[in-house]
Amino acid sequence: MNEQNIQERINYLVNILNQYNYEYYILDNPTVDDSEYDSLIKELENLENKYPHLVRNDSPTKKVGAFLKTDLETITHEHPMMSLGDVFNSEELREFDDKISKVVDKYTYVVELKIDGIASTAHYENGLFTLGATRGNGTVGENITKNMLTISNLPKVLTKHVNIEVRGEVYMKKSVLEEINAQRKKDNLALFANCRNAAGGSLRQLDPAITKKRNLNQFSYTIVNPENYGITSQMAALEYLKELGFSVNPYHKHCQNIEEVIATIDYYDKLRKTLDYATDGIVIKVNEFALYDLIGYTVKVPKWAIAYKFPAEIVTTRLKDIVLTVGRTGKIIPNAILDPVYIAGTLVSRATLNNEDFITSRDIRIGDFVRVRKAGEIIPEVVDVDLTRRKEGLIPFKMPAVCPKCGMPIKKDNSDVLYYCTNPDCGGRILEGIIHFASRQAMDIEGLGDKQIEQLYQMGYLTDASDIYLLKNYENELLTLDRYGKKKIDNILFAIEKSKNNPLDKFIFGLGIRFIGAKAAKTLAKHYSSISMLKDATYEQLLQLEDFGEVMARSIVDYFAKDLNKVLIDKFISYGVNPTSQNTSDNQKFSGLTFVLTGTLPSMSRDEATSLIEERGGKTSSSVSKKTSYVLVGTDAGSKLTKAHELGIKIIDEEEFKNML
Ligand code: NAD
Repeated sequence: MNEQNIQERINYLVNILNQYNYEYYILDNPTVDDSEYDSLIKELENLENKYPHLVRNDSPTKKVGAFLKTDLETITHEHPMMSLGDVFNSEELREFDDKISKVVDKYTYVVELKIDGIASTAHYENGLFTLGATRGNGTVGENITKNMLTISNLPKVLTKHVNIEVRGEVYMKKSVLEEINAQRKKDNLALFANCRNAAGGSLRQLDPAITKKRNLNQFSYTIVNPENYGITSQMAALEYLKELGFSVNPYHKHCQNIEEVIATIDYYDKLRKTLDYATDGIVIKVNEFALYDLIGYTVKVPKWAIAYKFPAEIVTTRLKDIVLTVGRTGKIIPNAILDPVYIAGTLVSRATLNNEDFITSRDIRIGDFVRVRKAGEIIPEVVDVDLTRRKEGLIPFKMPAVCPKCGMPIKKDNSDVLYYCTNPDCGGRILEGIIHFASRQAMDIEGLGDKQIEQLYQMGYLTDASDIYLLKNYENELLTLDRYGKKKIDNILFAIEKSKNNPLDKFIFGLGIRFIGAKAAKTLAKHYSSISMLKDATYEQLLQLEDFGEVMARSIVDYFAKDLNKVLIDKFISYGVNPTSQNTSDNQKFSGLTFVLTGTLPSMSRDEATSLIEERGGKTSSSVSKKTSYVLVGTDAGSKLTKAHELGIKIIDEEEFKNML
C-alpha cells in the first residue's frame, strides 16, 4: 500500500468508527457487533502506530466514548473517567505485563469480571448520595442523579460519614431484559439488542420513572483518591467499598503474576455463562496504587490496567474478495479475503469458502458482510451472509472456466463438487506442494513459511520441494532479497539441514500424495523402512496395510509411477534427504501423560516443548491439578510451581525433560 492508500484507509476507519461510536454511546443502538468494532479499531491503532504523521485529530483512538449530544444536564468530571485498552489472547496479555515489568519491579494483579453495562460515577457527601453521572466523553458526563436514585442496590446512605466518589457499572440483569423484551414485543415496540444497550437506554432517560421500571443494578469497583481513606491497593479498595455498603462483584482474584492471571481466564469464561448479568471480559489491574503514576497513562487509558475480551466464536466482517488457490493436488479452493477480525483470540483475514456449491447455496458475494467462525478451532470458515447489510449491485459468484494460476482448463472430479486444474505442471500446484512440504505438520522447516516460499518460488530459487536443500548454495543471493538478513538466512539454512533428520513419516506426508494424510504416512513408515522401499511397493502389498483401501493404494502406486515424481525422489536422495523409519515419530512414550509448563526454559520455547510432548502422545495443560503428571519448570516460574509442590506433582527442569525425550 502506498501512503495515499494508507491515508484513505485511515480516513475510512476514522469516519466509520466515529459513526459506530455515535450509534453505540449516544443512541444506545449499535449497528455492528463489538467484535467487528474491536477489529476495526485495532487495525486503525496499528496503522496509526506505523504512520504517526497520518493520525487524524478526530481519531476515535484518542478519545473516550463519543462527542456528547444530550438532553440531560452535563457535568464536568473533576477526575477524568478513562476507558481501558483491550487484549484478545494470552500473548497480548504477556506483552502488557512486559511493558509494566520494564517500569516497575514488584507488583501483583487483581482480576475482576468486566461487567457489560454503563460506566457511572456516584458522589457522596458526609455519607449521603448527592450526584450521579455517566462517563460521557471522559471529561464531561451527563447528570443522572435522579435516575441513579432508582437503582435499588446502589446505597444512598453509606455506613460511614465520608465524602467520596465511587465508580462502577450500571447493568441490567439478563432475566430483567427477557421480561422487558417480552413485554415490548407484546406492545409492538423495538426490542433491546442486549443488556448493555438496555441499561444505557434506561439510565439516560429524562424521566426517572421510566428508569425505575427498568429495574437496573450496579457494581462498584473504583474509589477516586483512595489515599484520602488510607487505601493503598485495589484489593483493599474492594473491601472498603463493601464496608461502606456498596455492591461489589464477588468474583475477583488477587494474582501474583501474569501467568496466574492467564490461568484464571478459562475459569472466568466458564463462570460468566452461569451468571444473570452480561460480562464481556475480565479487567486486569495492578493491585498497588503507589505504582500507578510510575506506570502511567495514555490520553485515553491507564497503562496499569487492561481488559481481556472473551473471544467471540462467530463474528461478522466484510468479504473483500474471493481468491482461488490451487492446492497441491490441483484442487481449486475458493478463499475469502476479509476485513481482519478477531475470532477466538486470533486475528483472521482469510477463511475458507470450501467450494463453489458452498458459495452459491449461501449466495455469498464479494462486498457482503459475512459471519465467520473457527471450524474445529483451527481453520476459519465463512458461515453465512448478513443479508440485511447487503448493498445493491453485488454480483453473484461464478467459478471461472480456467485455472487462476496457469490458465489451463479446470474440471470437476467424480464428486461433482470439487474443481481440479487439469495441468500437472501447474505453477500453483507446485507452489502449494512446496509450502506443504515445509509446513509444521510435514518437514517443519522453521522460517520457511508461505510468504518466503512464494517469494523464492517467484524468484526461481525453488522449482520443486527438493530445491529447498540447494538454497545453501545461494546464501549471497538470498542476502540481496527484501527482508532477508544474515541472521534470518542462517536460521533458515539451519532449519533446512535439521529437517534432514526428520522421521520418515513426516517426509512421506510432506510429499503431498493425494489421500495420504499424516496417519496413513505413519502406517507406511512403519512397514517400509525407506522411501526407496516404499517406491517399489505394489498395489496388492499396500492393500494389506491397516486402514488402507483401494483409493489410497492406487494413489501411491500412481504417484511413484510418474517420471516427475521419480526424478523428485532421486533429487531428494542425492541432496542427502533420505530418512529411514528408525527415526519414525510413532514414538508414543508420553501417551497418557499431562505436562504443565511454567516459566522460561533455557533453550527451547514453550511451543517447541509443547510439540515435543504432543509428538510423543502427551498432552499439555495450562493449570496444575491432581491429574498433572509433570510440571516442567523454567526460570521465573509462577504459582503453578507452588501448586505443584502443594499437590506433590513431580517437577522437572529442561535437562530432565530432554533426558525423557
Ligand atoms: P470498554 O467497555 O471496552 O472498557 C472500559 C469500561 O469497562 C470502563 O469504562 C468500565 O465502564 C467498564 N468495566 C466493566 N467492569 C469493569 C471493572 N471491573 N473494572 C473497570 N472497568 C470495568 O471500553 P469503552 O471505551 O467503554 O468501550 C469500548 C468498547 O465498546 C469497544 O471495545 C467495543 O467493544 C464497544 N463498542 C462497540 C461499538 C459498536 O458499534 N458495536 C461502538 C463503540 C464501542
